[in-house]
Amino acid sequence: MHGLVEIAPLPAVPLHDLFTYRVPDALSARIAPGMRVRVPLGKQTRTGIVTGYAEQPPPGEVRSVLELFDDPEPFVPTDVLELCRWTARYYLTSLADVLATIVATRVPPTPSDRGFRLGRRPTDAELAALGRRARAQHRAYRVLEAAPDATLSAAAAEEAGVAATALRALVAKGWVEVVRLARAPEPTSEPPAPPAPPSLTPAQQRAVDALVDDIDAARGGSFLLHGITGSGKTEVFLAAAAAALAADRGVLVLVPEIALTHQLADRVRARFGETVAVLHSGLGPRERWAEWRRIRSGSARVVVGARSAVFAPVRRLGLVVVDEEHDAAYKQEDGLRYNARDLAVVRARLAGGVVVLASATPSAESYQAALDGRHTLLELPERPTAHPLPPVTIVDLRGRPRERGKPQLLTDELRAALEGNLERGGQTLVFLNRRGFATYLQCPGCGDTPACPGCSVVLTWHRSAGALVCHHCRHHRRPPAACATCGMTSLEAFGVGTEQIEATLRACYPLAAVDRLDRDAAQRPGAQRRILQAWHAGETDILVGTQMVSKGHDVAGVTLAVVLLADLSLNVPDFRAGERTLQLLIQVAGRAGRGDAAGQVLVQTLRPEHPSLTAAARHDYVGFITGELERRRTLGYPPFARLVSLRLDGRDGAAVERAARELAGRLRRRAREAGLSEDAVLGPAPPPIERVRGRVRWQVLLRARNVPPLRALARAARAAEPELRRQRVRLVVDVDPYSM
Ligand code: ADP
Ligand code: ZN
Repeated sequence: MHGLVEIAPLPAVPLHDLFTYRVPDALSARIAPGMRVRVPLGKQTRTGIVTGYAEQPPPGEVRSVLELFDDPEPFVPTDVLELCRWTARYYLTSLADVLATIVATRVPPTPSDRGFRLGRRPTDAELAALGRRARAQHRAYRVLEAAPDATLSAAAAEEAGVAATALRALVAKGWVEVVRLARAPEPTSEPPAPPAPPSLTPAQQRAVDALVDDIDAARGGSFLLHGITGSGKTEVFLAAAAAALAADRGVLVLVPEIALTHQLADRVRARFGETVAVLHSGLGPRERWAEWRRIRSGSARVVVGARSAVFAPVRRLGLVVVDEEHDAAYKQEDGLRYNARDLAVVRARLAGGVVVLASATPSAESYQAALDGRHTLLELPERPTAHPLPPVTIVDLRGRPRERGKPQLLTDELRAALEGNLERGGQTLVFLNRRGFATYLQCPGCGDTPACPGCSVVLTWHRSAGALVCHHCRHHRRPPAACATCGMTSLEAFGVGTEQIEATLRACYPLAAVDRLDRDAAQRPGAQRRILQAWHAGETDILVGTQMVSKGHDVAGVTLAVVLLADLSLNVPDFRAGERTLQLLIQVAGRAGRGDAAGQVLVQTLRPEHPSLTAAARHDYVGFITGELERRRTLGYPPFARLVSLRLDGRDGAAVERAARELAGRLRRRAREAGLSEDAVLGPAPPPIERVRGRVRWQVLLRARNVPPLRALARAARAAEPELRRQRVRLVVDVDPYSM
């Protein structure tokens, strides 16, 4: 029996977390954490989630829960609620915000699922009085009493001629309760016979055995599955998933971006049929809701989805897979800023399940965790098929003739390779990473790029201000008159686009079918699917694109992959730039030579000696990451330090700057008191995008090797929020930030 509950309203109330409500006697035996209720809030009523019980009533009037929607199963299962609590704590936000983000708030319980059940039994005298004074209510009571389980669906009540007003009056008396009825199970058709999985290679079998041992022993466990592109990682986790299902455990497969990874979703569906639910952003609220219920009820046992699927209410979760675990798309960049990969590890632990992070190019964080023994490392060093990794040729762009002041991207080497490939009827992928906003200066003679002396990140060129700025420490300076390395006097600002390249290629190769896939091209409805279909069908000869084309497309006809200018991802002001570049290059290279014809890869750059480039040319992830981890250790970057980014923004630029300076000063004093080093509080500095939708931004970066003092600093920043609000400055706290 519980008299008081804490409730998270959906949506959350700004600057409030949970609210306390009284539980009416009729509900107190059944109400439980994770259930949805209707509660009064202000002058209205709202849906909310019960998060727990309260011991003490808060001061003032305590209002009562009006209606309980879920019974006997809470809508949010215990382990997901625990995950939400963990998320709120770790990412320094409120539980109400987390719940409002993960639960579809807009969809009310469907009326057809609503039913009525007898509640508190009236005395005989009360019932007799009712028969005299309110015949309709009396009749409604009798009809309900005669129904099986003393429960009627709303539809059945209507059919029986019971007036809705009469039922409502009985609900108000507490004699009848509103309940949610379980839906009739969906008719299941005989699933098609699943295709026979290939017989696994010894390396795959070892990996599967390790996973299955832990799944069977239900002892949790976390694994990093590092296998080269096309080494059969997917087959490994599909086999582990089959074992989990056989042990009556559920499976969660996270993918970076569902629209770009439908091939994987199709493979999972082909293997497991009806029991697969796919959660993707294209679902409307009602469909998403329906999928949640299918998962919640256990009729879907395998869930494939993008980051928010980490909260999916999978029953008896036995296996969590994070495919392409290094992908930045796992980091949610607005609203609730969480990293689904990190939450997946927590989720599996809370559920007693196994987590496996899979990648050809694991993140520095995950690889270091494996080195530290926090993940068990499973390796697939070879492809099971007869298709070796394609050779990678680096094309040095330094000192080449220029085209209107820009490096000539259609080099002779590229033309020769492209024309040869067209003649042989092969498909070509042309990749240009145009992460546009941050531009940089680079010397066309030697490839040198002005970098911050203190931070080892590339300086960003602010054209309007005529200055080079470090986005970490705010070091800024005028652009040098000549290159510091070779003395050449014309540093160039870079910024090239896929559209230009597409147009140029069309002009050069009028007989070839040239297409383009990037965010712009994918804008039109259905465009993305159409472009990819033509690409898969082999109708497109040359596909130009951004990151969107680098992921998970296994197209047998692709025999040439080209990276037009690797420097674009190298020269972003982010300490992960080198790591990201290597990941991209290996990803793109992995697209070529998947079919029977051998593939080749061309990578163009002004910095051929950069470790990311040399490692990509050798397909040497381990060599790269070993050096990269050393560099991170020396510079004090993740995974050897933790970061929290504080972003302040507002319409009045001067006010934001003042507030940012004030906050940074205060945090610096605290850091000193806590014995943290000088550079625990960096900034304030203007971030890469200084103004967004009329709001000026400033950034303060917190950095420390140990988590507790860092979190104390971040909490102190959070505590300043009401004061900042009064100055009309908004604070965004980003724990373990991905974009700087
Ligand atoms: P990854 O996930 O590492 O990129 P996949 O699981 O997609 O690799 O496998 C790459 C290709 O190799 C696929 O076409 C897959 O069907 C095939 N494959 C995987 N494992 C085997 C195996 N043991 N025997 C034969 N082919 C395999
Ligand atoms: Zn700097």
